[in-house]
Amino acid sequence: MKTLEPGETPPFDHHGPRYLDASEVLIEGRPALFGLPYDGTTSFRPGTRGGPDALRAASVGLETYSPTQDRDFEQRPFADLGNLDIPFGSPAPVVALAEQTTAWILEAGSVPFMIGGEHSLTVGPVRAMAAKHPDLAVIQIDAHADLRDGYLGEPLSHAAAMRRCLELLDGPEAMLQVGIRSGTREEFVEMREQGRLVSPDAASLQKALPRLGERPLYITLDLDVFDPSCFPGTGTPEPGGIDWKTFSELLSVIPWDRVVGLDAVELSPMLDASGCSNVLAAKAVREMLLAL
Ligand code: MN
Ligand code: MN
Repeated sequence: MKTLEPGETPPFDHHGPRYLDASEVLIEGRPALFGLPYDGTTSFRPGTRGGPDALRAASVGLETYSPTQDRDFEQRPFADLGNLDIPFGSPAPVVALAEQTTAWILEAGSVPFMIGGEHSLTVGPVRAMAAKHPDLAVIQIDAHADLRDGYLGEPLSHAAAMRRCLELLDGPEAMLQVGIRSGTREEFVEMREQGRLVSPDAASLQKALPRLGERPLYITLDLDVFDPSCFPGTGTPEPGGIDWKTFSELLSVIPWDRVVGLDAVELSPMLDASGCSNVLAAKAVREMLLAL
């Protein structure tokens, strides 16, 4: 497995599209996007490898101003470092590269923001984050519990993404799981018993947040939390999801001054011929960038 030498720059592909008018170099204290076009463990319908570039291509149709937040990229700049050149095949080297890239961005004083790709990749950034912030908490916004021990023999499956993250945190209370509406009975029993399951509305999230104390936060957004009627472009669509307004309200109660890293994953552009899912994903990323 190729690992980065100390001081070595991660292998960014600088030829692809950028998100809106992003800087190509890191800006201290500001977020830095990087894409991971990987879908190697996807169990049902693949295609998230096209997510990062489709999201960027859709971003050109967005305004730089968010009326909801009354904020504009002109006052809140950010970087887009491009996609990482990733090895094909098993997820372990890709996860390791995501971890090393996250550590590299943290070292430079920026806020890592990974664009997937599939949800199994999240364990990479969370490893680097937990190494720097041992009291890290994760807020997962997702349709699926992702608490399997592994799936089809692969411990780094996207169906096991939060199980792997929990192993890196300093207790089962260092996570909130928002919007989960699909999983095994065992997964739901565990989430309920450990108080991690949160209904996807702003009031419920606000009520649950004190359980995380003053911990630094990592936000992982699995876009399939949205209802398939507004976001069909994902590999494992699950009826009964949230709409844009609910998402926007959820963002409004997150204490962004404690957010140290984030990701948005599971956009599969080829599954939505209309392209609307790409636009929704691009807009979700804009709102999170502007909240920081
Ligand atoms: Mn999901
Ligand atoms: Mn997920």
